[in-house]
Amino acid sequence: MKKEKLLMIPGPSPVHPRILNSLSQPTVSHVGPEMVEELKEALAALKKIVFCEKGEPFVIAGAGTLAMEIALLNTIEKGERILVLSQGYFGKRMSQIAQSFGLDHDLIESEWGRAVLPDELERKLSEREYKAVVSTHVDTCTGTCAPLKDYARLLKNRGLIFIVDGVCATGGIEERMDAWGIDIILTAAQKCFGAPPGLAILVVSERAMEKRRKMGRIPAYYSDLLNWLPVMKEPSKYFSTPAVNEFRAFYESTQIVLEEGMEKRFLRHARFAKSIRAGLTELGFSFFTQEPFLADTLSVVNYPQGIEDQAFRRKLYEEGVVVAGGLAQTAGKVFRLGHMGNLSAAQVYFALDSLERTLLSLGYKFEVGSSLRAAKAILEE
Ligand code: PMP
Repeated sequence: MKKEKLLMIPGPSPVHPRILNSLSQPTVSHVGPEMVEELKEALAALKKIVFCEKGEPFVIAGAGTLAMEIALLNTIEKGERILVLSQGYFGKRMSQIAQSFGLDHDLIESEWGRAVLPDELERKLSEREYKAVVSTHVDTCTGTCAPLKDYARLLKNRGLIFIVDGVCATGGIEERMDAWGIDIILTAAQKCFGAPPGLAILVVSERAMEKRRKMGRIPAYYSDLLNWLPVMKEPSKYFSTPAVNEFRAFYESTQIVLEEGMEKRFLRHARFAKSIRAGLTELGFSFFTQEPFLADTLSVVNYPQGIEDQAFRRKLYEEGVVVAGGLAQTAGKVFRLGHMGNLSAAQVYFALDSLERTLLSLGYKFEVGSSLRAAKAILEE
């Protein structure tokens, strides 16, 4: 069998052995006691992870994109206008989803590598009335982390619904739902939770739930939160068969997150990002994302002259590490390195060491061992 590779793409992230182990547990009844207990605990943990006291948590078989659809379908009615803030590929996806559902929307797009500035949001809000504002927290294509807290400050007390796509952030970068006034945080299992892909995850404020109730019938069935609400409140009820083993794995992942503690987890993500970037800088690499917007969960790295995308990633794969290429206009120009979830310092060092071995074999000139030294200086200080 081929040797296991270290998955350093920006999601799915490496799955911790404890989570893998829970996946291999027998499939139990979706309304049986094991499932009921674990789902209840996972949902309670999820609320703690996003600092939400009163909202409703949902975990539904699907992926992040389903969670994006659910957020819009359950809070926006035809004829209501929404504002989408896009920091790249995934912000644009939100506007495509709005378009698919025939929702009126305006889009503010930042230059790739930068985020939409709070001033731009403020200007737009003064020009027109919006029922909701949607923003990606971290765009996984451009590596941009949006100034979410600043957006939230501007949006507070305006009576509109604030939806955050936290797919590449939730559980790794601070998001305080109640304190910041976020109405929906949507995410997926495969990134900062470090669980396998396959789940759409949302936490919905009381206000957003109230809006859903006022809307009456919506053009959705599986995606209708009101169909799921009784199951989330009492998991022994049936609506549609949940992905039992995925749910159990997700439960385990939430326990790992809470055992580490949120403050420690955010700090670890920040330190890993800093150390990996210090290592890469030492090798002469630069970053696609501009400085104030660099995300703690991934790095989008420019190729230096003479390094070819396909050859680099193939060789790095042989050395044991999988990274992702660029998307859309960045294809061939950058590689994307995920550093989120339950990554360990040893894995960070292994990744940099493999990178050095790859570069050596490609004839790239650098001081051997320098990236590891730079990374260790930060992680071991
Ligand atoms: N939003 C962001 C920020 C993402 O990174 C992704 C996936 N990379 C998605 C949404 C869509 O998630 P999925 O691929 O699970 O549908």
